[in-house]
Amino acid sequence: MERILNYINGKLTEPASGQYLENFDPSVGQVYGEIPDSDQRDVEKAVEAAKESFPEWSSKSNEERSRVMIKIADLIDENLERLAKAESKDNGKPLKLARAVDIPRASSNFRFFATGILHFASESHLMDGAINYTTRTPIGVAGCISPWNLPLYLFTWKIAPALAAGNTVVAKPSEITPMTAFLLSELCIEAGLPAGVLNIVHGLGPKVGQAIVEHQDVPLISFTGGTATGKGIAATAGPMFKKLSLELGGKNPNIIFADCDFDKALRTSVQSSFANQGQICLCGSRIFIERSIYDKFRDAFVERVKNLKVGAPMDETSNLGAVVSSSHMEKVLSYIELAKEEGGTILAGGERVVLDGEFSNGYYLAPTVIEGLDYNCRTNQEEIFGPVVTLTPFDEEAEVLQMANSTPYGLSATIWTESLTKAHRTAHQLKCGIIWVNCWLVRDLRTPFGGMKQSGVGREGGWEALKFFTETRNVCVKL
Ligand code: NDP
Repeated sequence: MERILNYINGKLTEPASGQYLENFDPSVGQVYGEIPDSDQRDVEKAVEAAKESFPEWSSKSNEERSRVMIKIADLIDENLERLAKAESKDNGKPLKLARAVDIPRASSNFRFFATGILHFASESHLMDGAINYTTRTPIGVAGCISPWNLPLYLFTWKIAPALAAGNTVVAKPSEITPMTAFLLSELCIEAGLPAGVLNIVHGLGPKVGQAIVEHQDVPLISFTGGTATGKGIAATAGPMFKKLSLELGGKNPNIIFADCDFDKALRTSVQSSFANQGQICLCGSRIFIERSIYDKFRDAFVERVKNLKVGAPMDETSNLGAVVSSSHMEKVLSYIELAKEEGGTILAGGERVVLDGEFSNGYYLAPTVIEGLDYNCRTNQEEIFGPVVTLTPFDEEAEVLQMANSTPYGLSATIWTESLTKAHRTAHQLKCGIIWVNCWLVRDLRTPFGGMKQSGVGREGGWEALKFFTETRNVCVKL
């Protein structure tokens, strides 16, 4: 059994309750570790430590903060293989994905904001008879709460800008995938991050997460997770007038026009549908295909999907690993049943995959392709967050835009066309925060990241993140 601990005031500590939760390895469907079942008492200690360390950390020069953060990034790089293995075991994702994407990105997050803060500047506005200058200063204790799908990647995406801007942090990773956050706490100790600057409290969302959100000494909350959880967090934090950044769910359209580069659209659509078992908030789960190429695209897509290998995460030849938990697997299967009830035809997958030997109890699902559904049905409107996509034909540009914009979500979209004019025209009419043309998941960390409608409030990334984690003050001086 691998037992992990909280990281509070620079030390690895037991939870106040003395109780632990089970941690599952989804690839085999068995418990392999224990997680602190922390509560409000642990959050209290963490906030106290973060408050005490704030004056010193926030008054350090940007360069001093940057130096220790770069050391953390270096240690993440040095521990790439160990962290990738831990992430893959905890989450069920293919090891090669954790090695190529999750862990390198965690290191990039630290490096990016550690250097970004050295270039962060504010404005001044000269007017008739006076000059205004604006300052952006650290706020205090930031609460950072992250989900299970990209555990260390999204955890560091919040922590790094918060720390770079001079705040101290109380963070909670998902209780379902806490391992790499724990390993990060060991690396922070090794890097010499001062005690109390970053505190990581493990445990359940409604207990630990809620206690962070409710705490009167945590004036800003950065949350990534489901829309329903985000709504609850906003209900608590709103009346307390906390600064709030919410990155929530998505139901992203992938629009294939007849004049696309067919092979590129096909290849990338398989990836944007099933990468990380479809458990990326940016996956394109609704594929709209112009009718003149519908049959051709559908047949080629289904053929490729049937060739994807679902296998053990450590197997380098696996394209898909396990989904994150038994309850999540059941949720995805229930949506496949719903799709059938709603009149959908399953063209590929549609069921659990049972592997041989030690992996026979793992949570594996076949990549699933469904056609014949109305764009307005529940399968096409609700976030499934698994390896399930629907195919829908369209005739007109206006029609596909209407269908694409019809969900309560507005996170991202992908457009495939070789027409420059059409690409720009449609991009400007999609109600979502992130749009890719002829590519998917190409990320520049300087760009604003976030969604419209029920996909969230605010933007992360680049200056947006540093602005969120600082308080703005304008000083007007009469000349
Ligand atoms: P959840 O909303 O269930 O959980 C997210 C985090 O919030 C977890 O750490 C969870 O803890 C915690 N939490 C749960 N309840 C509360 C509460 N009452 N107060 C405070 N914190 C709480 O999301 P999932 O982990 O299931 O992640 C999947 C979701 O995340 C999907 O909807 C996906 O679209 C979205 N997502 C959005 C992204 C974006 O950038 N927009 C990126 C990635 C994912 P615990 O797990 O311990 O219960």
